[in-house]
Amino acid sequence: MKLIESYTAIADAGGDETLRAMQDALLIETLVYASERSPYYRERLGDTTGVKGVEDIGMLPITRRAELQKDNWSLLCVDRKDIAEVVATTGTTGEPLFIALTAADMQRLAENERRWFSAMGVTGESIAQVAVTMDNLFVAGMAYYKGLESLGAGVVRSGASNAKRQLELLMRIKPDIIIAVPSFMLKLAREAEKLGLAPDSLEKALLIGETIRGMDMASNHLGRLVEEAWNIECFSTYGITEASVAFAECASHDGFHSHPDFVFPEILDGDGCSVPDGEAGELVVTTFQVEGMPLVRYGTGDICFKVEGPCRCGSETPRIGPVIGRKAQKLKVKGTTVYPGAIENALLKADGVVNCHITAYTGEAGTDLVRVVVGTNGDSAEVLKEARSFVRADARLTPDIEVATPEEVERLLSEGGSRKKAVFKDERKRAGAFD
Ligand SMILES: [Zn+2]
Repeated sequence: MKLIESYTAIADAGGDETLRAMQDALLIETLVYASERSPYYRERLGDTTGVKGVEDIGMLPITRRAELQKDNWSLLCVDRKDIAEVVATTGTTGEPLFIALTAADMQRLAENERRWFSAMGVTGESIAQVAVTMDNLFVAGMAYYKGLESLGAGVVRSGASNAKRQLELLMRIKPDIIIAVPSFMLKLAREAEKLGLAPDSLEKALLIGETIRGMDMASNHLGRLVEEAWNIECFSTYGITEASVAFAECASHDGFHSHPDFVFPEILDGDGCSVPDGEAGELVVTTFQVEGMPLVRYGTGDICFKVEGPCRCGSETPRIGPVIGRKAQKLKVKGTTVYPGAIENALLKADGVVNCHITAYTGEAGTDLVRVVVGTNGDSAEVLKEARSFVRADARLTPDIEVATPEEVERLLSEGGSRKKAVFKDERKRAGAFD
């Protein structure tokens, strides 16, 4: 499989129509390839001759992670000898899924990131500190490395080193961009202050793993804290390990762009129907130009929305908003469908709200109810009033809200014992039931 070198050249040649024709061809190519070579898709897809292009994609079945977990290697389309690398999902929902990439898939992965770094203004002259895990089957660290390499940028592969070591490298090598998790950036800032260090070479950060944007694409509380602590331009990105693809922001910071020659995103409601732009639903992706384990209409379980209209940067490639929750976290409160992430975003807009914890439980009538604790050092009455009005306006909800200190909320967030803080706790009677 030879990669399309530049879809922008195709787009420039004839705009939208040519781009659509390219995607139609890529979809057919993927269907033919996957149903010929992958035991899973041979059985699952059946006769696809009725599908003439992306317009007909709704005719195809959705691929669910649970089915793939049952027989992971049935996805493989190549000989084992052609596998160049195996990566894995983090297994937050059940067993991890292994994804095998060929040499061509590694190139595609590199190209995906090369384009994003380029859109961020990173050049061959840049020096980037990659402060995320580089090993343990984690795809993203390697993807950044490969992308920076193909851009000709210099890489400081600090990986999962501790804060002190990262700061030492920042001070001595003076990179201009860092790739990190946002809350780790805050930890770095606190540590620098403690040690009396003032690293000042960074201009940009690519932030992964936690969202720094609200539903309106403006920086959320976490994003603002990082921007203020470091005085740098932050870019957010969202990656899907299974699809070897990432969505990312351009310099206009108005949603996460996708590469139309690498992925076809859909946003679907609970019945599998496409929802209008701006409305929340499950992100379902079809990969293009993948050799090892291509995916056809893979349900990510992540809830987000498509951003309406072209981006201010001029690109008309589809964009998605930040992920606001998992499909299984969907709440139905007094007839209103809402996801915990939307409540969190609304709460964090209120001045003085440092952190928050959201619990869903089953009310007496068997309905979903929501209880919220916000952490603040400010005036409780004022903070409560503002938090309520934001939740009402943005999430169309009037939950019980309690006020506590940020430290008390911090304890709630770490309750589960997992390393990743959990803002949302599901105590509903049918909690955990995946559909
Ligand atoms: Zn843009």
